[in-house]
Amino acid sequence: MAPTKVLTGARVVLPTGTVDDGRVIVDGTRIAAGGSPANAETIDLSGHWLLPGFVDLHNHGGGGASFTSGTVDDVLRGIRTHRLHGTTTLVASTVTGDMDFLSRRAGLLSELAEQGEIAGIHFEGPFISPCRKGAHSERLLRDPDPAEVRKLLDAARGHAKMVTLATELPGGIDSVRLLAEHGVIAAVGHTDATYEQTVQAIEAGATVATHLFNAMPPLGHRAPGPITALLEDERVTVELINDGTHLHPAALRLAFHHAGAGRVAFITDAMDAAGFGDGRYMLGPLEVEVADGVARLVEGGSIAGSTLTLDRALQRAVTVDGLPVEDAVAALSANPARLLGMDDRIGSLEPGKDADLVVLDADFALRGVMRRGEWVVDPQPA
Ligand SMILES: [Zn+2]
Repeated sequence: MAPTKVLTGARVVLPTGTVDDGRVIVDGTRIAAGGSPANAETIDLSGHWLLPGFVDLHNHGGGGASFTSGTVDDVLRGIRTHRLHGTTTLVASTVTGDMDFLSRRAGLLSELAEQGEIAGIHFEGPFISPCRKGAHSERLLRDPDPAEVRKLLDAARGHAKMVTLATELPGGIDSVRLLAEHGVIAAVGHTDATYEQTVQAIEAGATVATHLFNAMPPLGHRAPGPITALLEDERVTVELINDGTHLHPAALRLAFHHAGAGRVAFITDAMDAAGFGDGRYMLGPLEVEVADGVARLVEGGSIAGSTLTLDRALQRAVTVDGLPVEDAVAALSANPARLLGMDDRIGSLEPGKDADLVVLDADFALRGVMRRGEWVVDPQPA
C-alpha cells in the first residue's frame, strides 16, 4: 500500500476559508484527519495553492475525442485530458442526435459511469428550441415529450444526471416534473422562454441554468427573459463558461453579484479541441472549425462549445475577473459537487472525502493534480 502522504506548506482553500502553511494528509484514496502518521512521505508545497479537485457539470470532450461520438478509448482519452487540467470529476455531455443514437450512447457512457470514470451523463438536446439551437442540428430537434425523456433516462440506467431542455416547448413543464421526480437535474437552456415561462419551469423543479446568457434571449428591461428569472431564484445554480469568448467579464461579475458565489458553477462546455489544438472537428453531425482556440460552426459561425479547461477558467476568474479565490473555488468544486449530490465524497478538502486536489503556483498556473490519492500530474515545487 502507498505510504501516507503529508502535503505541507501550501495555502489551502478549505470550506471555512484559506489557511496559510496548511497541511493535508492523504491516506490511500482519501483525505485523513490530522495527527502525525508514521512512515509518511512529506511533500513540500510551499509557495503553492492547494485546492479541491474541479468538478465539471458540462463537458463534451477533449484531447481530440468526443463524448458524443468517440469509442470507449476516445472517451477515456477525453477524460484523461481534462484530468491533466485539474478536473477530477466530470459529467459527460452529449449533443443533439436521433433518439436511437443517443440511447446507444447512453449505454456506452453508463458503463464508464459504473467504472467510476465519469460522474454521469448530461443530455444537451434534442429537446431544445430551434430559435436558440446554437451548435445543435436543427433537423434532429424535438419537443420534450416526457415519454421520450423517459427513454433516455432508462437508456442511461440510473446515470443520467442532467437534461438541458427548452421548458417553454410543448411537454416542457411535464418533462421538468418527470426529471425532478427521478432525481435528475432539469436544466433550462437553449431556450426562447420568457421570464414568466422560466419562473414556471423553476416552480416545476428546474434547478440549473445551462450556460447562462448563451443560447437564450438577452436581458431586456421590458422583457427580463430567462436570465433574470434564473438569476433571482435561490433554488437555481447558473453555469458560466469563463473562457473570455462566451461572456464579457462584466456579465460574469453581474451573475456572481446576483446569484452569489454559492449558486455559480463554472463549466467548460468543452469540445474535442480542448487540450488538443486548432483544426476541423465534428460536434455531433455538424462540422466545426477551431481557430485561435475558438470553436465555431463551419456553417453559420455559431460558437460551438469551448476549448476551455477548468484550470484556465480558474486562472481567468482570479487574474482577469478579479474574483476572490474562495469564490472561484466554490464555483469549480463545492457547488457542482452539491448539485450532483456527491458533496459527501468530493467538492472540498475535508477528512473522509476523496483525495482529489489541485496544486497551483502563485500565478494560478497548474502545478499538480491528485485524483483519489494518486498523482495525475506530479507536483512541481515552487
Ligand atoms: Zn454544451
